Amino acid sequence: MTATTPAQSISPLSAELRTAALAALERLGASVPEAADDAGLPVRSPLSGERIVTVRRDGAEETRAAVAQAADAFTAWRSVPAPARGHVIKRFGELLAEHKADLAELVTIEAGKITSEALGEVQEMIDICDFALGLSRSIGGRTVPSERPGHRLMETWHPLGVVGVISAFNFPVAVWSWNTAVALVCGDTVVWKPSEKTLLSAIGSAALLDRALVEAGYPSEVSRLVLGELEAGEALVADERVALLSATGSERMGAAVAPVVAGRMGRYLLELGGNNAAVVTPSADLDLTTRGVVFSAAGTAGQRCTTLRRLIVHSSIVDDVVARLVRAYEGLPIGDPRADGTLVGPLVDAGSAERMAQALAEARADGGEVLVGGGQVTVDDAPGATYVAPAIVRMPAQTAVVRRETFAPVLYVMTYETLDEAIALHNGVPQGLSSSIFTLDAREAERFLSEAGSDCGIANVNIGTSGAEIGGAFGGEKSTGGGRESGSDAWKQYMRRATNTINYSDELPLAQGVNFG
Ligand code: NAD
Repeated sequence: MTATTPAQSISPLSAELRTAALAALERLGASVPEAADDAGLPVRSPLSGERIVTVRRDGAEETRAAVAQAADAFTAWRSVPAPARGHVIKRFGELLAEHKADLAELVTIEAGKITSEALGEVQEMIDICDFALGLSRSIGGRTVPSERPGHRLMETWHPLGVVGVISAFNFPVAVWSWNTAVALVCGDTVVWKPSEKTLLSAIGSAALLDRALVEAGYPSEVSRLVLGELEAGEALVADERVALLSATGSERMGAAVAPVVAGRMGRYLLELGGNNAAVVTPSADLDLTTRGVVFSAAGTAGQRCTTLRRLIVHSSIVDDVVARLVRAYEGLPIGDPRADGTLVGPLVDAGSAERMAQALAEARADGGEVLVGGGQVTVDDAPGATYVAPAIVRMPAQTAVVRRETFAPVLYVMTYETLDEAIALHNGVPQGLSSSIFTLDAREAERFLSEAGSDCGIANVNIGTSGAEIGGAFGGEKSTGGGRESGSDAWKQYMRRATNTINYSDELPLAQGVNFG
């Protein structure tokens, strides 16, 4: 391999980021597959906006080879007892805990998350390992009463095969681990194509899982990593050996992927864009509401699938709510996500800032008023990076720009008079991921959580839309894709169910009383 992107050809900040990233990878025991700049995949850091490393580029052929390896490994892995598979995940969790700071540093360098959120992302990986370990001793099928004497009717669950995981840049490692920890204890093998924007964090976390597998005497082919762009993703999606395709990303990506997997009768699990809203009612605790809204709307620089993008406030309190939020937004520390005290880091790239500016222009044309933020922010020593001030926009109506996801920190505020009206506005978008109501009125809260309330996969009371725990099933409805991953019974998507009827009598009674001679 040719080592490229030498430190002297890039800015001092990029050189510092490169050195830090390579050192973190070394501590993680990962070898970096560097490639020539003109042939490989560029790894850019949003902290400098520049390329810091160039790594191997896998295409369709390499992807198919990885699937073949994982398919081969599956034939042995599926027969390893689930509790033994759980032990590998337990060890993986221990390694993650040991290297939490190293992996979090890579997440900050590549995705731009502030250190606390990057550490939180790795903690989420550790948590799912705990969950999957428990699962490895508790996956069970039902036994149901048979209508025939001397018969037992039961369900057994079996591994599916190869699970293909495609992940997005904004949760560069946690989403893979949700899928992988559960898939591995279920007896599946995994091929992962991470976002092309966050390759180093993928290399680092995959190295830890490899180590856990090999230490326990299993082949590292149980989990494969493909470093590629669209060509690699498309090859994974089309491959008939991939029994389940779990894809996280934009609605556009999901719309491209779903028909291909359905066309080959594969299974898919889609975790796509959100356009999350919170309803604020007259009884809400406004101090708590302000804190919840600011974290959900401005945290991660608005780059979470669960980011709060729409605030639906009762007209009697809207001026007070907006004044509190504007004050809080004006004091948000924006800057280098590694620095103590920073709450808003950079956008992932300049394209995100362009889309944010376009959305704000469209909102203004629709009669919206930008109350705070919206402009680019210059951060010392990082002229190539894209920092923005999170924006709040008062909208007269839920126009087209409000109904689509703009992956940047823009919060649209609208008003309502009746709870029915608030719920109609809330549900009046194509996406259905996360939702909240801020209220101290039990009737309003219950109504919001009822079948006639929020239509989202996640509905909260008195907390914001972002920051889910791994114990619950995670995912959303409508154009968010309908998938559920992580906790609860999401494991069922990674297994196939067989219904077994066992006759332990010496008769052969037929179901439904059928007489056949
Ligand atoms: P993206 O759709 O641009 O890319 C996501 C992944 O899909 C990348 O790995 C990319 O290479 C791959 N990809 C894109 N098109 C593909 C195709 N046709 N075939 C195969 N692979 C393809 O998304 P992004 O910009 O990385 O992430 C932001 C988006 O992800 C937002 O819309 C956000 O809401 C969403 N997201 C959703 C969840 C969730 O759980 N619902 C979680 C995180 C992010």
